Amino acid sequence: MEEKEKTTGQQLREALLNQKKNGWDVVDEATEKAAFDYCEGYKTFLDKGKTERDCVDYAVELAEAAGFVPFERGMELQPGMKVYRVNRGRAINLAVMGSAPLDQGVSISASHIDSPRLDLKPTPLYEDSELAFLKTHYYGGIRKYQWVTIPLELRGVVAMKDGSIVHVSVGSHPGDPLFTIDDLLPHLGAEQSKKPLGEAIPAESLNILVGSRPLKDDEGKDRVKLAVMKLLYDHYGIREPDFISAEIEAVPAFNAVDIGFDRTLIGAYGQDDRVCGYAGLKALLDLEGVPVRTAVCVLADKEEIGSEGVSGMQSAFFETFIGDLCASQKVPLRVCLEKSFCLSTDVTAAFDPNFADVYEKNNSARVNYGVGLCKYTGSRGKGGASDAGAEAVAYIRRLLDDRGVLWQMAELGATDKGGGGTVACYMANRNIDTLDAGVPVLSMHSPFEVTSKLDCYMTYAACKAIYEG
Ligand code: MN
Ligand code: MN
Repeated sequence: MEEKEKTTGQQLREALLNQKKNGWDVVDEATEKAAFDYCEGYKTFLDKGKTERDCVDYAVELAEAAGFVPFERGMELQPGMKVYRVNRGRAINLAVMGSAPLDQGVSISASHIDSPRLDLKPTPLYEDSELAFLKTHYYGGIRKYQWVTIPLELRGVVAMKDGSIVHVSVGSHPGDPLFTIDDLLPHLGAEQSKKPLGEAIPAESLNILVGSRPLKDDEGKDRVKLAVMKLLYDHYGIREPDFISAEIEAVPAFNAVDIGFDRTLIGAYGQDDRVCGYAGLKALLDLEGVPVRTAVCVLADKEEIGSEGVSGMQSAFFETFIGDLCASQKVPLRVCLEKSFCLSTDVTAAFDPNFADVYEKNNSARVNYGVGLCKYTGSRGKGGASDAGAEAVAYIRRLLDDRGVLWQMAELGATDKGGGGTVACYMANRNIDTLDAGVPVLSMHSPFEVTSKLDCYMTYAACKAIYEG
């Protein structure tokens, strides 16, 4: 429509109001194609990386193929050099050295690659009524009823006393058996159905069914358990006590798929927060030339249980990594950090019309409206939030608008309906300006989370914008 044909009202609306638009009405065909292509790589990342360790292994594989090398302390670093450092197999930091010295700060994208799941207990294997089960302890915020009667696979490591590591993966290869947790039949579930949703499946009933054949020609007890243990010993060389020093996770056994007749959505386990982890990683790998500021991608562990521990975002591993970069240029770490900027890339809740009453329509992220920026997360009166400064939000508004990255503002649900946290506060506590941003998700923390391909791609574009400054 020509400018002169617009009514005064139309002109005023365009000039004055925040007019949100569906991304598919805005992007051109080339961007649509780029988004669909990008998501093929993302789905592969999800299928390979169903645990934080798997994500790290695959990230290293991709990074080395893109020319990254392990960062050794004392290494001389030239602009354009690409380095990475793995934290105990469960987290990774990567950097592309910029042309500016590190006293100008670094540009960071920080996300997490741990996801809610069921961990095996240290003494997991038992037999009851001639069925063998594995006891689990849930990790992160799960809705327990969602984890019964779905196919599960096991992935993880057993650290042996002799220092060797046994990798366990059952269910991800074609022809593998799968596992499951049983639930009551409706015929006998009348009492269970009267319970509140959160109490219907007690945590101690989340026991994984792993076998049913008793050991032949044996009169002793627990013959099914013993037969299962023998299979594990024959295949992996592990004995029951070795579970004590193991990290084995039960995760959904289905792979990432397209959702919808139009294939615009992705359904998969672990999208919180591998959707942002992949965006930050891929954007770093795709950087062309030498960025001005050093670009840093952080893939952290343990966010789902408070970012605690040696592999979480609160760990000094991050300072050690940046400090070692700074030492190569004799720049004090604190000088680098105070000039740095961090996009804390983590998912947010997408407005769900089926549960509209927990959202506030004007301030919730919408599927297909682009990467969601969260000035604050937390709960109640912004408790636990980093609450980015207005100036930090303005910087990102300008950066993303200048590059045509589709974005929207996001709040995780209506005020006082709940809330959530991210790694943002731990970055901000280090004197780094930090803003939360990420992909809106439907069914977050469920075994099958849903995102929009366009939003995934725009989060990648936002990470690239941060790195390129
Ligand atoms: Mn998250
Ligand atoms: Mn989460």
